[in-house]
Amino acid sequence: MCIFCEIIKGNIPSSKIYEDDNYLAILDISQTTYGHTLVMPKKHYDNFLQMPENEAGELMSLVNTLANKIVSKLDAKGCNILINTNEVAGQSVLHTHVHIIPRYDLNDTVSFSFKENKFDLNEILNKINN
Ligand code: 5GP
Ligand code: ZN
Repeated sequence: MCIFCEIIKGNIPSSKIYEDDNYLAILDISQTTYGHTLVMPKKHYDNFLQMPENEAGELMSLVNTLANKIVSKLDAKGCNILINTNEVAGQSVLHTHVHIIPRYDLNDTVSFSFKENKFDLNEILNKINN
């Protein structure tokens, strides 16, 4: 059984900030920033792309609610909402989860770099839309 299924079953302790029949939100053990949270469906899917659209939508709706609550209660100035999908994208636990990473200032330890474009946008559009 995967580590998040063990947490969901209560076999491994966690700091729960939300729970209902289908979803669980816990504090990430690594606390990248103060309040870093993971929101997950209780039903095991290896990753977000495997979820049926309606369940993915329900998960993201809950993420919206919880991110608002976390940002406001912890006095954050914003947040990153992140889903790593597959190892190539940094996914280390193969049970769908959404990171909510509250942000407090521009000089914290979290950084994403969006590099200068070197691709042909029309070629990409054709591949996606055809
Ligand atoms: P990923 O890299 O798969 O997107 O994120 C996995 C996250 O799960 C990491 O941020 C890691 O710190 C967190 N994590 C791994 N094991 C545990 C655990 O046992 N408890 C909690 N609360 N978080 C965990
Ligand atoms: Zn699982």
